[in-house]
Amino acid sequence: MPLPPDLRLTQSSLQDYTDCKRRFQLRYLDRLVWPALESEPALIHERYMHLGAQFHQLVQQHQLGLPVERLTRLVTDLDLTRWWENYLAHAPANLPAKRLTETVLTASLTGSRILAKYDLLAVAPGRAVIVDWKTSQPGAKRPRRDTLLNRLQTRVYRYLLVAAGAHLNGGTPFQPEQVEMIYWFAEHPDQPYHFPYTSAQYRADHEYLSTLIAEIAGEYNRQTLGPLSFPLTPDEKRCAYCPYRSLCDRGTRAGDLDDWDTDLDEPTALDFTLEQIAEIEF
Ligand code: SF4
Repeated sequence: MPLPPDLRLTQSSLQDYTDCKRRFQLRYLDRLVWPALESEPALIHERYMHLGAQFHQLVQQHQLGLPVERLTRLVTDLDLTRWWENYLAHAPANLPAKRLTETVLTASLTGSRILAKYDLLAVAPGRAVIVDWKTSQPGAKRPRRDTLLNRLQTRVYRYLLVAAGAHLNGGTPFQPEQVEMIYWFAEHPDQPYHFPYTSAQYRADHEYLSTLIAEIAGEYNRQTLGPLSFPLTPDEKRCAYCPYRSLCDRGTRAGDLDDWDTDLDEPTALDFTLEQIAEIEF
């Protein structure tokens, strides 16, 4: 039996599956909203999530051409002011001229839809740069380079731009070597990560993502005769920051925001809502 037709596979849902199959089930198959906190202290966590969303909106409007002075007048919070000034001084330079924000690309893979929403795509004939803006609380470490390189976001974003982005290149698919992904950090503005792409990595990503989706479908099929019961992660460190921990009997107290391991997990609250976005069909 195929996966449910309304299940859209994104970097977030695929990352959840690889981190914890039960979390994938609860979040994307059962669609269970569980009100536990991801981290303590709650108000600080919530504040940085809110500021991160505001920062993304500001940058989006700037990339679409709104004047800096007008946007700066909207910035009053001290942390947001610092991020905004960091962005104005250190945003990635020499990007292709055409800017697309909050763009969605989607393609079919192994019978399922896989989908990505990009913070910024900068494109020109024969060149495409993906920029992802990362915000965090002051003092938080940058994730390690190899951690980000191997995260589903990096693999899915670069792969989909080649597989489903021909309409952004005059009808010809971008070659992997024409694609680059940049992670820019509001708290570490002069230390972005640049990840170029290659044909060999594109083929590896195709194989990896196809296998992963087939595995998810296999797991789903094994269980459709009874109530879904995907396995819990054996790595209990992940549970401290997971909103389902009391449901899984993996503790009741949220992990501390100061101890958040950026190499292990990312906050999820900034993930987008699929119902809110228009798809660009492949
Ligand atoms: S609490 Fe732990 S086992 Fe349960 S869904 Fe979250 S990460 Fe998985």
